[in-house]
Amino acid sequence: MRSDPREYELVAPGNLRTVVELLARSPGEWLPIAGGTDIMVQYAAGKLPSRKLVSVWNLPELRSIEVLPEEIRVGAGSTYTDIREHEVIAREFSMLARAASWTGGIANQNRGTIGGNIVNASPAADSLPALLAYDAELILVSVRGERRLPYAGFHTGYKKMRLIPDELIQTICLPRRFSGYFFHARKVGSRNAQAISKVCIAALGRVAVTAAGKTIEDTRIGVGSVAPVPLRLRETERIVNGKIIDESLIRLARNTAIAEIKPIDDIRSTAKYRAAVAGNLVAEFLNLLADTKGMNSVPARWNNAPDDTAEAQILPCCGSKRWAHEMAARRPFKDEAALTAASDETWRNLNEADWIEAFSNHPRIGESKRQGGTQSSDAWSRQEQEKVTETGNAAKIALAEGNRAYEEKFGRIFIVCASGKSAPEILEILNRRLRNDATTELHEAAEQQRQITQLRLKKWLQG
Ligand SMILES: Cc1cc2nc3c(=O)[nH]c(=O)nc-3n(C[C@H](O)[C@H](O)[C@H](O)COP(=O)(O)OP(=O)(O)OC[C@H]3O[C@@H](n4cnc5c(N)ncnc54)[C@H](O)[C@@H]3O)c2cc1C
Repeated sequence: MRSDPREYELVAPGNLRTVVELLARSPGEWLPIAGGTDIMVQYAAGKLPSRKLVSVWNLPELRSIEVLPEEIRVGAGSTYTDIREHEVIAREFSMLARAASWTGGIANQNRGTIGGNIVNASPAADSLPALLAYDAELILVSVRGERRLPYAGFHTGYKKMRLIPDELIQTICLPRRFSGYFFHARKVGSRNAQAISKVCIAALGRVAVTAAGKTIEDTRIGVGSVAPVPLRLRETERIVNGKIIDESLIRLARNTAIAEIKPIDDIRSTAKYRAAVAGNLVAEFLNLLADTKGMNSVPARWNNAPDDTAEAQILPCCGSKRWAHEMAARRPFKDEAALTAASDETWRNLNEADWIEAFSNHPRIGESKRQGGTQSSDAWSRQEQEKVTETGNAAKIALAEGNRAYEEKFGRIFIVCASGKSAPEILEILNRRLRNDATTELHEAAEQQRQITQLRLKKWLQG
């Protein structure tokens, strides 16, 4: 049955002191409301535990991100947008930035807060495995002052936590000591965004390369949706730390992870599926850890960048925004072969408008700079057309004329994979393709763009 709003009281004192005093006067009577994205769902379902709400939304004491030498202090009232757009978080705590970019849609990210996510205590919450892996600590506040405790152990059972009724979460502290770690974050759901996860993982790992192979020095693996609370896989970590990564270790880690979790059947998935996926995600993490060349290699960083950063970074390789979006959504990629295969498949599945958008991101043949082109795409275009620029004036004039004729006939610029081709060679191709009908030419141009993207991906991977 729908709730009647007249039965509810909402106050908004506007400062932290007054809010905690109100909570202390009658503990448990007032329910804090931050972004309200969980509370409003409960309200609509007539399931709110209290009819008295006190707003903590936008309290200056809760909505700040402070960068200290030893740690980053994220106010509990920081929204997902605040988190995902914060430069230091995106760089040093990429798994948290990434989780923020997965949480609901943009409207939800502008409103939902990290404090609300912790207290809502869903086992499927996206940000919590990252907090476990990063050894986050919480600062709780009440009229009695502040107390600080590790986030690990804060959730003691399904929707149960070590928060006294008159306390608020004030700050989430993230220690700045994971710069040498490889990180792997992944959400498995029906879709990447706007879906509650079936299983999610946030894992950090550091390896040492020795003559015997790659030895795991340290791992920290957080998983969600596989138990009543988000879990740190301590037993799995224990059995892999100090060992050389090989197939048998990965198999053992997969089995240990499956034994450590307690998934359930629910409307989103089955316990059996969740166990298999959790095991696979742990194995995937260790495989990536074994393969990574260095913590700062492009694929490792890109695999774990927030979605919008990852899209922006790979976009110049192709020029189609939908291609970049799909590629970012298909992460992580194990190696170059997996990345380039996915690129081909994604490209072939795009529609005509996406292809044409990619074409329009190139300069004309004979012009190595496009109006509004990015630094990397301009540099690549110059390299691709190196042989063309060596040509004499007569060939340049012929190319310009050919370009004009092509644009007049097909209504877009001529696309050819120019790498290693001289101006006369390109002119010959251009003249041949001018005889194509519209459909044949569109597919021929798309094939050329596919080849250009492959070459650019290789350069991009080399950094
Ligand atoms: C459409 C939609 C999509 C969503 N998608 C996702 C998703 O993909 N992943 C995901 O993890 N979640 C998702 N959520 C859930 C929700 O957005 C998050 O849990 C969000 O972080 C809650 O924050 P909030 O500020 O809105 O909390 P509120 O709804 O205001 O509060 C939630 C709980 O936290 C308490 N609380 C809030 N702040 C504090 C504080 N500082 N101290 C103590 N208690 C506090 C409140 O009393 C309440 O019990 C989704 C929700 C919706 C509606």
